[in-house]
Amino acid sequence: MSGEAADAGGTGPAVRRLADWSAADLRELADEYGTPLYVTDLDRVRENATRLRAAFDHEDVRYAVKAHTGRAVLRAVREADLGAECASAGEVVRALDAGFAGEDVQYTAVNPPAGDLDVVLDRWRDGADLTVVAGARDTLHRLRDRGFDGRLAIRVDPGVGAGHHEKVTTGGHAKFGVPYARAADVVADARADFDLVGLHAHAGSGISGDDLAAHRELVARMGDLAREVGDLEFVDVGGGFGVPYRETEPPLDLSAVADATREALGDVDADLAVEPGRYVVADAGVLLTRVNTVKPVDDAGADGTVPVVAGVDAGMTTLLRPAMYDAYHAIRNLTDTRPERPVTVAGPVCETADLFCEGRSLPTPRRDDVLAIGNAGAYGYEMASTYNSRPRPAEVVLEGEGARLARQRETLSALTDLEVEP
Ligand SMILES: *Cc1c(COP(=O)(O)O)cnc(C)c1O
Repeated sequence: MSGEAADAGGTGPAVRRLADWSAADLRELADEYGTPLYVTDLDRVRENATRLRAAFDHEDVRYAVKAHTGRAVLRAVREADLGAECASAGEVVRALDAGFAGEDVQYTAVNPPAGDLDVVLDRWRDGADLTVVAGARDTLHRLRDRGFDGRLAIRVDPGVGAGHHEKVTTGGHAKFGVPYARAADVVADARADFDLVGLHAHAGSGISGDDLAAHRELVARMGDLAREVGDLEFVDVGGGFGVPYRETEPPLDLSAVADATREALGDVDADLAVEPGRYVVADAGVLLTRVNTVKPVDDAGADGTVPVVAGVDAGMTTLLRPAMYDAYHAIRNLTDTRPERPVTVAGPVCETADLFCEGRSLPTPRRDDVLAIGNAGAYGYEMASTYNSRPRPAEVVLEGEGARLARQRETLSALTDLEVEP
């Protein structure tokens, strides 16, 4: 496969594994830009977005911006004709600034701080015809008090959740949305003050083949509610499309998910909308990190199979998912293929949770080896912090044959920029 015809609007393979990346190219990037380094392939972002567009060809697809808010990524997603689902005023501003049209931007306000409402409604007054999704009657009052009478959707707690970890299961939690039993009343009230255009629910992340039953249940309940309240532009059933973090896991069958979603919704006189985040960017990104220190766990068994701890220059402040969710990420040694042994890959942060894997069978690491951590494109850079006074990493984006710096490495001096001298 080569040439423009194959690439134009190409959907690419259903999954890109860590093994599919060129080790030589990634090593070169690590040498040129330093580590830790996020590498994001915009062409792969486009393929993922295009594959979603193709599977949901008659539906609205809104990219959940929080998975990766880099400007180059937002532009690639917009060019692939997806909308933007935003979780904060900051995301709304970034989406608009990246070129999303106001009518393609949705702001899902979860317990929105006053400052967020003010900023979003300023943009609305300036002409961005965005949609606000409210998950509480109280939020409606706050919107009305601020003079908002634009496009509004009601977030519903459907009472069912899906997800790979309890911390990412949001459906079924009282924090999110109005209770299902009261949703029709809230919709009726909202119609008096706003342009009520939709219903919204999001069940949490990690829809896999196994979890499709919970997804169907959520969508079916939303279909019932939509038929009850009538006169809607859209029913948004959220994101949570899983990606195979483990090398042996199969990719999601997107057309099966799309079929199941349509079927579960049933006959509704409104557009179906989905809002995947992770699916768009996860396998488009890797994190590169360099080995600083190697030590055997137990000197007694020094027979070549003794487990070792490889200390690397990325940690939980660079990629939080393993520490926060016990998430599995594939790890590959880009420098060499030495015999395997149990390897614990540990970051430089003074926290026991600061591990990327424990006792995983990997090629024996040596100091200065470069390791690649897979599926780091979603919730990677976004969740980076400066805990332990660790500056945030740099990010390089790939496009066609080229690579360019997208985010500079944070400097040590930037860590104290906000401090005020007494
Ligand atoms: C996080 C989030 C999403 C996206 O979830 P993914 O698992 O990344 O697909 C979609 N909708 C809402 C409201 C979210 O909070």
